[in-house]
Amino acid sequence: MLSLGIETSCDETALALVDEGRILQEVMFSQVDKHSIFGGVVPEMASREHLRKLQPLWHSLLKKSERRAGDVELIAVARGPGLLGCLLVGLGFAKGLAMGLKIPLVGVNHLHAHLMAPALEQEIEFPAVGLLVSGGHTSLYKIDSSIEFELLGRTLDDAAGEAFDKTARALNLPYPGGVYIDRFASFAEPDPDMFPRPYLDNPSLDFSFSGLKTALVNHIRKHPGLVQENPLEITPDSTPDPELARVCASFNLAVAETLQAKLQRAVSATGVQNVILAGGVAANSMIRQKTIKLCSSMGLRLILPSLNLCTDNASMIACCGEILARHGLYHDLELEAVPRGRKIPWDYCGLKNSG
Ligand code: ATP
Ligand code: MG
Ligand code: FE
Repeated sequence: MLSLGIETSCDETALALVDEGRILQEVMFSQVDKHSIFGGVVPEMASREHLRKLQPLWHSLLKKSERRAGDVELIAVARGPGLLGCLLVGLGFAKGLAMGLKIPLVGVNHLHAHLMAPALEQEIEFPAVGLLVSGGHTSLYKIDSSIEFELLGRTLDDAAGEAFDKTARALNLPYPGGVYIDRFASFAEPDPDMFPRPYLDNPSLDFSFSGLKTALVNHIRKHPGLVQENPLEITPDSTPDPELARVCASFNLAVAETLQAKLQRAVSATGVQNVILAGGVAANSMIRQKTIKLCSSMGLRLILPSLNLCTDNASMIACCGEILARHGLYHDLELEAVPRGRKIPWDYCGLKNSG
């Protein structure tokens, strides 16, 4: 089944052709440079950019893959969570194509897609514990099959990615800051006592990262020299000053150890043998290393997507769309966008079962 994935939930305009879980071609326009001067994504600007870029990207996708529009058999589109205006642009494009090409449409939960992204590279075995760490979410799931998810715990305030980005902002590093903190952390040894490991005294599988951010802001107040003068001059390849590197390493360690501790508890509580680490923050070097170590010490199989499948991409949307289609799950043209903060049912009630 040749499937088109459409991802416009935030600031990446991405299209991909996937055939039975195999990536044929991907095209993507990242708006990061447009938003970075504002220190974050400007929603209306992001929607306009999606509208501007989708059509040329679609033509370039067909050209690069040497396929015709008529070859596509399924349209899979990210329906949320995300920025409402951005999602609406993607949905409009998806519906137009599905209508014009007379092919089925399926709306994909962006978080479901993050967790299923590794299926593009390897077989996922179930049951598994899924740790989703992204820009807007930090959640633990027990995953019984590719379409059955049980939420075990989630962040009560900031997401891990948000904590990285807000920390970077406080240090006046460019947006999005996760990558900068990751790179700069490699220049120093972390101080394990510099920052707290938030919410570990709470026995639940929930997270809370806002206290960590406050600890960092307090640390910066005492050491104002850490705040960078001009973020526009900084690239991920810049060499940080040793004290900045030490703060980045210590902050990264605090996030990594907090995630590990809750992941370990989730695995013990569920007794599963498989772990999926997914979402943009799963691209973080220290978090990857620590998760690999933890899983090997516990004798678990770790399913870890490669870096480009961690951050937002359209292949994961197409892949997840194929999973749904294989279960006979499709949407009609009334499919609606679900913005951040509103729940998308993980059991896919509301989906039409055509099977
Ligand atoms: P969501 O998926 O929750 O809707 P999103 O789509 O904006 O949010 P992703 O694209 O999955 O989020 O991930 C982006 C986040 O990942 C950003 O917060 C970014 O800083 C973070 N991130 C990306 N690379 C790294 C890295 N190497 N280290 C830490 N964080 C990173
Ligand atoms: Mg993004
Ligand atoms: Fe995402």
